[in-house]
Amino acid sequence: MTTVDAAAPESRTFEADVAKLLHLMVHSVYSDKDVFLRELISNAADACEKLRYEAIAHPALLGDDPKPRITLTLDADNRRLTVEDNGIGMSLADMVEALGTIARSGTKAFMERIEANKAGEGAQLIGQFGVGFYSVFMVADRVDVVSRRAGGDEAAIWSSDGKGSYTVGHAGLDEAPVRGTRVVLHLMEDAKSYAERFTLERIVKAQSGHVPVPIAILDKPG
Ligand code: ADP
Ligand code: MG
Repeated sequence: MTTVDAAAPESRTFEADVAKLLHLMVHSVYSDKDVFLRELISNAADACEKLRYEAIAHPALLGDDPKPRITLTLDADNRRLTVEDNGIGMSLADMVEALGTIARSGTKAFMERIEANKAGEGAQLIGQFGVGFYSVFMVADRVDVVSRRAGGDEAAIWSSDGKGSYTVGHAGLDEAPVRGTRVVLHLMEDAKSYAERFTLERIVKAQSGHVPVPIAILDKPG
């Protein structure tokens, strides 16, 4: 991949299929937007599992923070929801690959189905295929992902409004988790209830009860 200037986040356009998927997702009327949280929690749990696996051969990756965890932080005043994990994390190159392209064949199949089904079968299709990370743009008009790969000495930030392009660049270590990934959702006005404890507790209970990593819900201090 090309190098990215540490000082200036660089703007890039999504792969054409991603742009199409985002458009379909935002402009289809889904009854069940809650699924975005299941997708983020499942990514966070996957990241913890990947770290656990890598740490079998490289225990130093765990540092002094060996227990996996997922933290949801609510900030209703600023209409913000943060999902953070202390899993494997992503380097800048990982982010470009994982969040700028459609690597998974399942997503392509999903797009074909949903295009053929404008009538509103969308919610079931999302459940059936699992649309993954991009479902955040059903509820957020801007999403920032700040991450630091386990064992890495750099942090990276990815940011997008889900409308065709994203920026990516290095971030200061003090802005990033010590290890793992923080996803910050700037919620749309009609999705502001996702920054409320009652809503999140209900969804986590309904969708993520089986997740093998503890999930904490915190109110943003101050
Ligand atoms: P899937 O989980 O099916 O691979 P997603 O769209 O949910 O698809 O996520 C795309 C990719 O982004 C993941 O495969 C992973 O590489 C990366 N990713 C997303 N969230 C995280 C996270 N919290 N920690 C590390 N990597 C992540
Ligand atoms: Mg996923």
